[in-house]
Amino acid sequence: MEKEKIILTGDRPTGRLHIGHYVGSLRGRVELQNTGQYSKLFIFIADAQALTDNMDNPEKVRQNVIEVALDYLACGLDPSRSTIFIQSQIAELCELSFYYMNLVSVSRLQRNPTVKSEIQQRNFEASIPVGFFTYPISQAADITAFRATTVPVGEDQEPMLEQAREIVRRFNHIYGETLVEPDILLPGNAACQRLPGTDGKAKMSKSLGNCIYLSDSADEVQQKIKGMYTDPDHLRVQDPGRVEGNPVFTYLDAFCQPEHFGRYLPDYPNLDELKAHYRRGGLGDVKVKRFLTAILQETLEPIRTRRKAFEQDIPAVYDMLRKGCEAAREAAAATLDDVRRAMKINYFDDAELIAQQAKRFKAE
Ligand code: ATP
Ligand code: MG
Repeated sequence: MEKEKIILTGDRPTGRLHIGHYVGSLRGRVELQNTGQYSKLFIFIADAQALTDNMDNPEKVRQNVIEVALDYLACGLDPSRSTIFIQSQIAELCELSFYYMNLVSVSRLQRNPTVKSEIQQRNFEASIPVGFFTYPISQAADITAFRATTVPVGEDQEPMLEQAREIVRRFNHIYGETLVEPDILLPGNAACQRLPGTDGKAKMSKSLGNCIYLSDSADEVQQKIKGMYTDPDHLRVQDPGRVEGNPVFTYLDAFCQPEHFGRYLPDYPNLDELKAHYRRGGLGDVKVKRFLTAILQETLEPIRTRRKAFEQDIPAVYDMLRKGCEAAREAAAATLDDVRRAMKINYFDDAELIAQQAKRFKAE
């Protein structure tokens, strides 16, 4: 029998979602949801993980849960086809993390390059919260609790997936075949795997304040693009410009479709020609930014409009999340039954164990 195909992925409620999330994971999830090739999709809001580096700001996490849920719905995640839930409401995930901690060494965690750079970013070097340090383990629990085969995420999540796969292999080796080894699903387009920030920094990230949010107004989007970092040596229009490391062009790589030229920039047949002109000199940043603005407005407008509609009925969104949590809990509980059995901690549903021991003690 072919393995059932199950998707799991999520986002931290540390802010509204931005266009990096969109191209890195969200757009792909919606497409996968709509293909019908996956029997289940689990999409979760990682509030417990967000608390590992926002422990002193629970209100921020609480307020952003609804923001992320609204962004999901606005982008087309459909609760009738995807189970959308909140991580902290699934107690089984903590239990699973606790068992996985036995399977991972401190030095292995220290080697995780994403966590390394996040520790630096957060000035945690002197004193790392244990919860933050071990979040890759909890992430392995999130993935495996739902028997996910496929995890659509951005490139920064590669080390997390590798860690999860190692835990699965180790668990299955020690306790017998129980868990499913997940595969990462990166966006095919390299520009989408790690979208840079508007400031040119390597990653657009809520924590860095260099984001274009899906819910930004048309005016905000325009202003942010206007102020975007480009090639700092491209001072006059006639100067040759650099396309590599220029986020305006990276965004075009991520969002531009051939038909956009006909609509907004008919002087150029395609992106290659636009880039060639910029490299040669004679093409100004303003013109390229205007083109990018038109494309992003076209992409974001329907998302904005749908979000506004969902914002009109917040209780219904919470109701959707509550139902999602119930369904997710049920799925995770089934995996935990298997895990407890494999780890031999299922004392009360093992009649054989009780009978065997009764016999042994009688004989003694
Ligand atoms: P934080 O700064 O709080 O960690 P974040 O912006 O990194 O927030 P996450 O919630 O950690 O967002 O990431 C959610 C998902 O979005 C992950 O799959 C991640 O790979 C993807 N993602 C985040 N930022 C980008 C980006 N700039 N480009 C592509 N994918 C991204
Ligand atoms: Mg992150």
